[in-house]
Amino acid sequence: MLDNIHIILINTTHPGNIGAAARAMKTMGLNNLILANPYAKFPSAEITARAAGADSVLENTKVFASFAEAIKDFNVVIGTSAEERRLPLQRLTARECAEFVCAQNPAEKIAIVFGTERSGMSNEELALCQRQVVIPTSPDCTSLNLAAAVQVIAYEVFVAACAAERAEMPIKAAHDRLATSAELQQFYEHLEQTLLEIEFLNPVVDKKIFPRLTRLFNRACLETGEVNLLRGLLKALRKNSQTGCHPRESGDPG
Ligand code: SAH
Repeated sequence: MLDNIHIILINTTHPGNIGAAARAMKTMGLNNLILANPYAKFPSAEITARAAGADSVLENTKVFASFAEAIKDFNVVIGTSAEERRLPLQRLTARECAEFVCAQNPAEKIAIVFGTERSGMSNEELALCQRQVVIPTSPDCTSLNLAAAVQVIAYEVFVAACAAERAEMPIKAAHDRLATSAELQQFYEHLEQTLLEIEFLNPVVDKKIFPRLTRLFNRACLETGEVNLLRGLLKALRKNSQTGCHPRESGDPG
Protein backbone atom coordinates (compact mmCIF):
# COMPACT_ATOMS: atom_id res chain seq x y z
CA MET A 1 0.00 0.00 0.00
CA LEU A 2 2.90 2.37 0.68
CA ASP A 3 4.97 0.97 -2.18
CA ASN A 4 5.08 4.28 -4.08
CA ILE A 5 6.63 6.17 -1.15
CA HIS A 6 10.42 6.40 -0.95
CA ILE A 7 12.63 7.86 1.73
CA ILE A 8 15.78 9.59 0.39
CA LEU A 9 18.71 10.38 2.67
CA ILE A 10 21.24 12.85 1.27
CA ASN A 11 24.95 12.71 2.22
CA THR A 12 24.36 10.74 5.42
CA THR A 13 27.51 10.66 7.53
CA HIS A 14 26.72 8.32 10.43
CA PRO A 15 26.14 4.63 9.63
CA GLY A 16 23.98 4.38 12.76
CA ASN A 17 21.52 6.89 11.30
CA ILE A 18 21.11 4.86 8.11
CA GLY A 19 20.42 1.70 10.13
CA ALA A 20 18.04 3.48 12.51
CA ALA A 21 16.21 5.13 9.58
CA ALA A 22 15.74 1.69 7.96
CA ARG A 23 14.33 0.36 11.24
CA ALA A 24 12.01 3.36 11.60
CA MET A 25 10.73 2.77 8.07
CA LYS A 26 10.21 -0.96 8.54
CA THR A 27 8.08 -0.41 11.66
CA MET A 28 5.78 1.83 9.60
CA GLY A 29 5.48 -0.32 6.49
CA LEU A 30 7.88 1.70 4.31
CA ASN A 31 10.37 -0.40 2.36
CA ASN A 32 11.98 1.91 -0.18
CA LEU A 33 15.15 3.58 1.03
CA ILE A 34 17.45 5.57 -1.29
CA LEU A 35 20.86 6.90 -0.33
CA ALA A 36 22.01 9.88 -2.39
CA ASN A 37 25.81 10.14 -2.30
CA PRO A 38 26.14 8.67 1.23
CA TYR A 39 29.29 9.71 3.10
CA ALA A 40 29.05 6.59 5.27
CA LYS A 41 30.14 3.32 3.66
CA PHE A 42 27.15 1.24 2.57
CA PRO A 43 26.54 -1.59 3.35
CA SER A 44 28.36 -2.06 6.66
CA ALA A 45 28.13 -4.13 9.83
CA GLU A 46 27.21 -1.04 11.88
CA ILE A 47 24.32 -0.17 9.58
CA THR A 48 22.99 -3.73 9.74
CA ALA A 49 23.33 -3.80 13.54
CA ARG A 50 21.40 -0.53 13.96
CA ALA A 51 18.72 -1.67 11.51
CA ALA A 52 17.89 -4.39 14.06
CA GLY A 53 15.87 -6.68 11.86
CA ALA A 54 15.05 -4.26 9.05
CA ASP A 55 17.34 -6.24 6.73
CA SER A 56 14.72 -6.31 3.98
CA VAL A 57 14.83 -2.49 3.80
CA LEU A 58 18.64 -2.54 3.54
CA GLU A 59 18.59 -5.25 0.86
CA ASN A 60 16.14 -3.13 -1.13
CA THR A 61 18.15 0.10 -0.66
CA LYS A 62 19.37 1.88 -3.80
CA VAL A 63 22.41 4.15 -3.91
CA PHE A 64 22.75 7.09 -6.34
CA ALA A 65 25.72 9.35 -6.99
CA SER A 66 23.68 12.53 -6.49
CA PHE A 67 20.29 13.76 -5.27
CA ALA A 68 19.33 15.06 -8.74
CA GLU A 69 20.12 11.63 -10.19
CA ALA A 70 18.08 9.89 -7.48
CA ILE A 71 14.86 11.86 -8.11
CA LYS A 72 14.84 11.82 -11.92
CA ASP A 73 11.77 9.62 -12.27
CA PHE A 74 9.89 10.85 -9.19
CA ASN A 75 6.59 12.72 -9.57
CA VAL A 76 6.38 14.27 -6.11
CA VAL A 77 9.47 15.34 -4.17
CA ILE A 78 9.04 16.64 -0.63
CA GLY A 79 11.96 18.08 1.32
CA THR A 80 12.20 18.15 5.11
CA SER A 81 13.80 21.01 6.99
CA ALA A 82 13.17 22.92 10.19
CA GLU A 83 14.74 26.03 8.76
CA GLU A 84 12.98 29.09 7.36
CA ARG A 85 14.28 29.74 3.83
CA ARG A 86 14.93 32.98 2.02
CA LEU A 87 12.71 31.79 -0.83
CA PRO A 88 10.25 29.63 1.11
CA LEU A 89 8.42 26.69 -0.43
CA GLN A 90 4.87 25.89 0.58
CA ARG A 91 5.33 24.42 4.06
CA LEU A 92 3.47 21.47 5.52
CA THR A 93 3.57 19.97 9.00
CA ALA A 94 4.44 16.27 9.24
CA ARG A 95 0.74 15.46 9.52
CA GLU A 96 -0.24 17.62 6.54
CA CYS A 97 2.58 15.99 4.56
CA ALA A 98 1.16 12.54 5.33
CA GLU A 99 -2.30 13.66 4.21
CA PHE A 100 -0.86 15.22 1.03
CA VAL A 101 1.07 12.03 0.23
CA CYS A 102 -1.92 9.77 0.84
CA ALA A 103 -4.16 11.97 -1.34
CA GLN A 104 -1.92 11.34 -4.37
CA ASN A 105 -2.66 8.67 -6.93
CA PRO A 106 -0.86 5.47 -5.79
CA ALA A 107 0.74 5.31 -9.24
CA GLU A 108 2.77 8.48 -8.55
CA LYS A 109 6.33 7.96 -7.28
CA ILE A 110 6.76 10.02 -4.13
CA ALA A 111 10.02 10.90 -2.38
CA ILE A 112 10.36 12.33 1.12
CA VAL A 113 13.86 13.70 1.46
CA PHE A 114 16.12 14.19 4.49
CA GLY A 115 19.30 16.26 4.61
CA THR A 116 22.75 15.61 5.94
CA GLU A 117 23.25 15.61 9.72
CA ARG A 118 25.50 18.63 10.01
CA SER A 119 23.85 21.16 7.75
CA GLY A 120 20.50 19.73 6.62
CA MET A 121 19.13 20.26 3.10
CA SER A 122 20.79 23.00 1.04
CA ASN A 123 18.76 25.69 -0.75
CA GLU A 124 19.71 24.04 -4.06
CA GLU A 125 18.36 20.69 -2.88
CA LEU A 126 15.13 22.24 -1.59
CA ALA A 127 14.70 24.05 -4.91
CA LEU A 128 14.21 20.60 -6.49
CA CYS A 129 11.26 19.92 -4.13
CA GLN A 130 7.59 20.78 -4.42
CA ARG A 131 6.90 21.15 -0.71
CA GLN A 132 8.86 21.67 2.53
CA VAL A 133 7.87 19.68 5.58
CA VAL A 134 8.54 21.03 9.03
CA ILE A 135 8.14 18.74 12.03
CA PRO A 136 6.64 20.94 14.74
CA THR A 137 8.97 21.24 17.72
CA SER A 138 9.66 23.34 20.75
CA PRO A 139 11.13 26.69 19.61
CA ASP A 140 14.12 26.09 21.92
CA CYS A 141 15.35 23.10 19.92
CA THR A 142 13.98 22.66 16.41
CA SER A 143 16.34 20.06 14.97
CA LEU A 144 15.63 16.34 15.43
CA ASN A 145 18.16 13.58 14.97
CA LEU A 146 17.96 12.36 11.34
CA ALA A 147 16.54 8.90 12.13
CA ALA A 148 14.11 10.40 14.65
CA ALA A 149 12.86 12.75 11.92
CA VAL A 150 12.39 9.76 9.58
CA GLN A 151 10.45 7.99 12.35
CA VAL A 152 8.04 10.90 12.89
CA ILE A 153 7.28 11.27 9.19
CA ALA A 154 6.98 7.50 8.64
CA TYR A 155 4.57 7.25 11.57
CA GLU A 156 2.36 10.06 10.24
CA VAL A 157 2.34 8.53 6.75
CA PHE A 158 1.42 5.14 8.20
CA VAL A 159 -1.43 6.59 10.24
CA ALA A 160 -2.74 8.63 7.31
CA ALA A 161 -2.57 5.82 4.78
CA CYS A 162 -6.18 4.79 4.50
CA ALA A 163 -6.19 1.60 2.44
CA ALA A 164 -9.84 1.71 1.48
CA GLU A 165 -9.71 5.26 0.09
CA ARG A 166 -6.49 4.62 -1.81
CA ALA A 167 -7.79 1.37 -3.31
CA GLU A 168 -10.81 3.20 -4.72
CA MET A 169 -8.79 5.90 -6.47
CA PRO A 170 -8.96 5.57 -10.25
CA ILE A 171 -5.63 5.19 -12.06
CA LYS A 172 -5.13 8.23 -14.29
CA ALA A 173 -4.20 8.13 -17.97
CA ALA A 174 -0.45 8.53 -18.65
CA HIS A 175 -0.66 12.19 -19.79
CA ASP A 176 -2.63 13.09 -16.63
CA ARG A 177 0.09 11.70 -14.41
CA LEU A 178 2.28 14.13 -12.52
CA ALA A 179 5.47 15.06 -14.38
CA THR A 180 8.69 13.47 -13.23
CA SER A 181 11.53 15.49 -11.78
CA ALA A 182 13.53 14.91 -15.00
CA GLU A 183 10.64 16.26 -17.13
CA LEU A 184 10.40 19.32 -14.88
CA GLN A 185 14.15 19.99 -15.07
CA GLN A 186 14.01 19.79 -18.89
CA PHE A 187 11.09 22.21 -18.88
CA TYR A 188 12.99 24.62 -16.59
CA GLU A 189 16.02 24.55 -18.92
CA HIS A 190 13.73 25.27 -21.88
CA LEU A 191 12.00 28.05 -19.90
CA GLU A 192 15.28 29.68 -18.88
CA GLN A 193 16.72 29.60 -22.41
CA THR A 194 13.53 31.08 -23.83
CA LEU A 195 13.22 33.80 -21.20
CA LEU A 196 16.86 34.80 -21.75
CA GLU A 197 16.31 34.86 -25.49
CA ILE A 198 13.22 37.08 -25.32
CA GLU A 199 15.09 39.21 -22.74
CA PHE A 200 12.55 38.70 -19.99
CA LEU A 201 15.41 37.42 -17.85
CA ASN A 202 18.59 39.32 -17.27
CA PRO A 203 20.76 37.40 -14.79
CA VAL A 204 23.04 40.40 -14.30
CA VAL A 205 20.18 42.61 -13.12
CA ASP A 206 18.11 40.10 -11.11
CA LYS A 207 19.10 36.56 -10.23
CA LYS A 208 15.97 36.00 -8.14
CA ILE A 209 13.32 35.93 -10.86
CA PHE A 210 14.07 32.50 -12.29
CA PRO A 211 14.13 30.66 -8.92
CA ARG A 212 10.78 32.33 -8.14
CA LEU A 213 9.35 30.98 -11.38
CA THR A 214 10.60 27.42 -10.78
CA ARG A 215 9.19 27.61 -7.25
CA LEU A 216 5.81 28.62 -8.67
CA PHE A 217 5.80 25.69 -11.11
CA ASN A 218 7.02 23.27 -8.40
CA ARG A 219 4.14 24.34 -6.19
CA ALA A 220 1.67 23.51 -8.96
CA CYS A 221 2.71 19.81 -9.12
CA LEU A 222 2.38 19.88 -12.94
CA GLU A 223 1.08 16.92 -14.92
CA THR A 224 3.11 15.58 -17.87
CA GLY A 225 0.44 16.87 -20.30
CA GLU A 226 0.66 20.33 -18.74
CA VAL A 227 4.47 20.36 -19.05
CA ASN A 228 4.10 19.49 -22.74
CA LEU A 229 1.55 22.28 -23.16
CA LEU A 230 3.89 24.81 -21.54
CA ARG A 231 6.80 23.62 -23.69
CA GLY A 232 4.61 24.09 -26.77
CA LEU A 233 3.90 27.62 -25.59
CA LEU A 234 7.66 28.27 -25.15
CA LYS A 235 8.35 26.97 -28.67
CA ALA A 236 5.75 29.36 -30.13
CA LEU A 237 7.14 32.28 -28.10
CA ARG A 238 10.64 31.52 -29.31
CA LYS A 239 9.60 31.15 -32.93
CA ASN A 240 7.68 34.41 -32.89
CA SER A 241 10.45 36.31 -31.13
CA GLN A 242 12.88 35.09 -33.82
CA THR A 243 10.64 36.05 -36.73
CA GLY A 244 9.45 39.13 -34.85
CA CYS A 245 5.89 38.71 -36.03
CA HIS A 246 2.55 37.59 -34.68
CA PRO A 247 1.25 34.17 -35.89
CA ARG A 248 -1.79 35.76 -37.51
CA GLU A 249 0.46 38.10 -39.50
CA SER A 250 2.52 35.18 -40.72
CA GLY A 251 -0.53 33.63 -42.33
CA ASP A 252 -1.38 31.26 -39.50
CA PRO A 253 -5.18 31.01 -39.52
CA GLY A 254 -5.37 30.25 -35.79
N1 SAH B 1 21.71 21.13 11.57
C1 SAH B 1 20.79 20.62 10.62
C2 SAH B 1 20.09 19.46 11.21
C3 SAH B 1 19.99 18.39 10.32
S1 SAH B 1 19.10 17.10 11.08
C4 SAH B 1 19.78 21.68 10.26
O1 SAH B 1 19.71 22.66 10.97
O2 SAH B 1 19.04 21.53 9.28
C5 SAH B 1 19.01 16.01 9.73
C6 SAH B 1 17.72 16.06 8.94
O3 SAH B 1 16.60 15.69 9.75
C7 SAH B 1 17.35 17.40 8.37
O4 SAH B 1 18.07 17.68 7.20
C8 SAH B 1 15.88 17.17 8.07
O5 SAH B 1 15.78 16.38 6.92
C9 SAH B 1 15.45 16.35 9.25
N2 SAH B 1 14.90 17.18 10.35
C10 SAH B 1 15.40 17.36 11.59
N3 SAH B 1 14.60 18.16 12.31
C11 SAH B 1 13.55 18.50 11.52
C12 SAH B 1 12.38 19.28 11.70
N4 SAH B 1 12.09 19.89 12.83
N5 SAH B 1 11.52 19.39 10.65
C13 SAH B 1 11.78 18.77 9.49
N6 SAH B 1 12.87 18.01 9.27
C14 SAH B 1 13.75 17.86 10.27
